[in-house]
Amino acid sequence: MNNFLSEDAPSRPSPIQLVDDPKARNKASASRPLERGEVILVSASLSLALLPSQKGIRCDFCLALPSKSRKLGKCSGCAAYWYCGPECQKEAWSSHHKKICKTFATYEASPEYSCLADDQKADAVLLSHLIAEIALKSLSSVDSVTDDVPSLSSEPFMFGTFLSLLGHDNHPAPPPVACRPGHNSPSPSELYSRFGRNNFVVHSHLSPIAHGIFPVASRLFNHSCTPNAAAKYIFGRDKPGVRMVVVALRNISHNEEITIPYLDPALPFLERQLSLEQNYGFRCTCHVCSFGSQLARNPNYTGDAPREEDILAIRDTLLNHVGLNLSLPASYVTQALSVVRNMHAMPETLYPLLHKSIIPRISEEFSQASHEGAVDRATDVGHVLLAVYVLVYPPGYPQIGMHALELAKTAYNGVITRTQESSALDNSANEEELLRRAGWYLAIAKHILLIFGPEGDVDSGPLEEAEFLHVLIEEELNNL
Ligand SMILES: [Zn+2]
Ligand SMILES: [Zn+2]
Ligand SMILES: [Zn+2]
Repeated sequence: MNNFLSEDAPSRPSPIQLVDDPKARNKASASRPLERGEVILVSASLSLALLPSQKGIRCDFCLALPSKSRKLGKCSGCAAYWYCGPECQKEAWSSHHKKICKTFATYEASPEYSCLADDQKADAVLLSHLIAEIALKSLSSVDSVTDDVPSLSSEPFMFGTFLSLLGHDNHPAPPPVACRPGHNSPSPSELYSRFGRNNFVVHSHLSPIAHGIFPVASRLFNHSCTPNAAAKYIFGRDKPGVRMVVVALRNISHNEEITIPYLDPALPFLERQLSLEQNYGFRCTCHVCSFGSQLARNPNYTGDAPREEDILAIRDTLLNHVGLNLSLPASYVTQALSVVRNMHAMPETLYPLLHKSIIPRISEEFSQASHEGAVDRATDVGHVLLAVYVLVYPPGYPQIGMHALELAKTAYNGVITRTQESSALDNSANEEELLRRAGWYLAIAKHILLIFGPEGDVDSGPLEEAEFLHVLIEEELNNL
């Protein structure tokens, strides 16, 4: 068992300890009780590549959006990389771009590259960056991972850690790359075999923007479909570079394993199983999956997609089960939401809500009603969707907070539209009710989003939006 130090707090004992595990190579567990919202690990990236949709929109090196003081400039060599300033351009050049700049235009225009899907393109460029980095740093003395880890973010350690990660047994051939590997460097195929299992999707405000390799996190954390921690990304804030920050989503007991999700925990059971097996080579046996295998044999779940009246009939059971009761104070409800759910205790009548059609369908209905300004319908449907999220996501999961924020905005916009449309006083009771509802959703949103904390782009994130909406709602309440 050894203790790790997190990069930002070298003087404090690490919250993580590695223990031997008969199934995985080893697993990270809490070396002491951890609090909800606590930072468990800060780790630098080994390599990054923007998604094609973000090219020219963000800095290729630090992923930041341009600002008034930092405009994006194109690399004059390849006209295919953009940087937010000379520092990023210089860092990128010495790190990998020097090896790629000349060949990139031809590479990008090649049929082998152009035919790839966007995700595969990001992986192909990521692999090219990694090969270039290894070649440029001539890491002949790549450290192997030992039990004594001097610093989690030192480069030799990260390359060593990356190479120590388990490869995929039946991995597909590597995508075309933009540069040749250096002497003594592992082959593209050898490097690529570690991709599927170990790449992360870097997101800003929960929207994907890039693919990245964060070997330390890959090495430390196993997957769970009901994780107690999750990764967020920090860039363009106080320090240069892109860092992954792993945050505790709920209180974690001493010696409890720390897990993160490798995929969206809201995906239906069979899709999760298939994706984890294909991409990561293991069968998940977490609490939710053991429930899932029982569910997969239950006709309430395997039957046809539930109809609208079926959902309506179980709506109250759902709301009671997850504790999403609008007549209770939001502070009381947030307490209920932080309890880890025993899936086996779910009433069987609710099983149809786990049908794969439910989340896409209710989300679509919610967006459509919000878009059309049908506020009552939107808040009703949105409330059911919030309850389904509480059912399928683990406590503290940021998507629950994001949706609660959407609901708060919908309710608030409804108040404003009604006030503008009608000067009649008979509507004021409705307005007040809707405004209080907006405040209720907002309190839940803030509670959950604050656990995850600031992430991604500096401006106009969900936390800033929530603060802004809070002021607007308070103003309206004072006007009543
Ligand atoms: Zn930059
Ligand atoms: Zn260039
Ligand atoms: Zn699972």
